[in-house]
Amino acid sequence: MAYRKDTICVQGGYRPQSGESRIPPIVQSTTYFYDSTQGMADLFDLKADGYFYSRLANPTVAAFEGKVAELEGGVAAIGCASGMSAIMLMAFTLCNAGDNIVTSSAIYGGSFNLFSVTLPKLGIEGRFFDPDAPAEEIEALIDEKTRFVFTETIANPSIKVLDFDKIHTICKKYGVLFVVDNTLATPILCRPFEWGANIVIHSSSKYLDGHAAALGGVIVDGGNFGFRGNARYPSFNTPDESYHGLVYADLPVAAFATKCRAQMIRDMGAIMSPQNAFLSWLGCDTLALRMERHSSNAAQVAKYLSKHPKIDWVLHASLPDNAYHSIALKYLPNGQGGMLSFGIRGNVTQAAKFMEALRLITQETHVADVRSCVLHPASTTHRQLTPEELVAAGVPENLVRLSVGIEHPDDIIADLAQALDQID
Ligand SMILES: *Cc1c(COP(=O)(O)O)cnc(C)c1O
Repeated sequence: MAYRKDTICVQGGYRPQSGESRIPPIVQSTTYFYDSTQGMADLFDLKADGYFYSRLANPTVAAFEGKVAELEGGVAAIGCASGMSAIMLMAFTLCNAGDNIVTSSAIYGGSFNLFSVTLPKLGIEGRFFDPDAPAEEIEALIDEKTRFVFTETIANPSIKVLDFDKIHTICKKYGVLFVVDNTLATPILCRPFEWGANIVIHSSSKYLDGHAAALGGVIVDGGNFGFRGNARYPSFNTPDESYHGLVYADLPVAAFATKCRAQMIRDMGAIMSPQNAFLSWLGCDTLALRMERHSSNAAQVAKYLSKHPKIDWVLHASLPDNAYHSIALKYLPNGQGGMLSFGIRGNVTQAAKFMEALRLITQETHVADVRSCVLHPASTTHRQLTPEELVAAGVPENLVRLSVGIEHPDDIIADLAQALDQID
């Protein structure tokens, strides 16, 4: 029986045998004991499930992977050292030099740099599109060397909401993988696989952990993409000589996750640590409750700010006049998340004065944990970008990003009110 998401949050990913610990033990061991040579050989041949070295798999990490895979409705998940390593490993599973990635420009700053600067150094080109552009414009970027299309459900930090149907239709037409970074929505608010995505990415450093305690990333395989015979993916359809001549497309399940783990995790590492997997697993216990509170708090704060005379504009999809309100009603009907952004009336100086006047809400690079925090992206996360790139990424210079926590909403609003009183 398929459980509801609230139930998976507390029951998913780990089922103890009689007499075992009720929650996953932290298996702080690099290696595992076997009493037969054949037993170990079968693991290496992927003929049996088990553990032999924690770079490839670890029981605590597997518990977290299982919980996230179940929550997203995918067939397999891979825990990574961070969200960025998850994106990097996903890209390397699909791309060789000469290939290209068609990506929304409204994405996390680190992802933007990966696709615009770092991967191009290795001959992998990032081709950017405005997510609000008509389908024909996005389609024009796709050619036979395009290996995936990349987007975010709720873009960080521009808070644009993804029009899944538009991108899914394009990806289907060209037989290209649809990858969605679901970090800011989480599977509680949106499950991308239900809207045509093939791979889901998480920075679990954000809401999944939820407590600003553990860095981590997850790659989830939807198991819903036909690699077999698809000329766009020769590396899935020809024998992998580095892995006993395995043809990934012939696997009955999880072709993507298997290639990613057997090849990329093996060669590049960047795996999640057992300690971080434990904290992230534990954090997910309360994910459904927290996302409800983050969303309702943010909606109340957005409403308050939208009426304040010292605020120029507020972006949160809960607001009826928001450009993504109707899209959000479709894809995020149970809450639009805790992230919002707004423009302080005035210039960068006023924005800085406001941020320093806050008492409860703290200035942090982090977002999406239980505590409310603010950030000025143009001077921090996005400081590498040129003014033109800032506009393309949807981050004007007076933008303040507010990650609304789960404190009492009246206390959050009172803090914003007193700080706004202090600027002129
Ligand atoms: C934070 C973030 C990342 C990067 O994750 P790290 O865990 O910090 O490496 C990627 N995508 C989104 C949407 C993020 O918010």
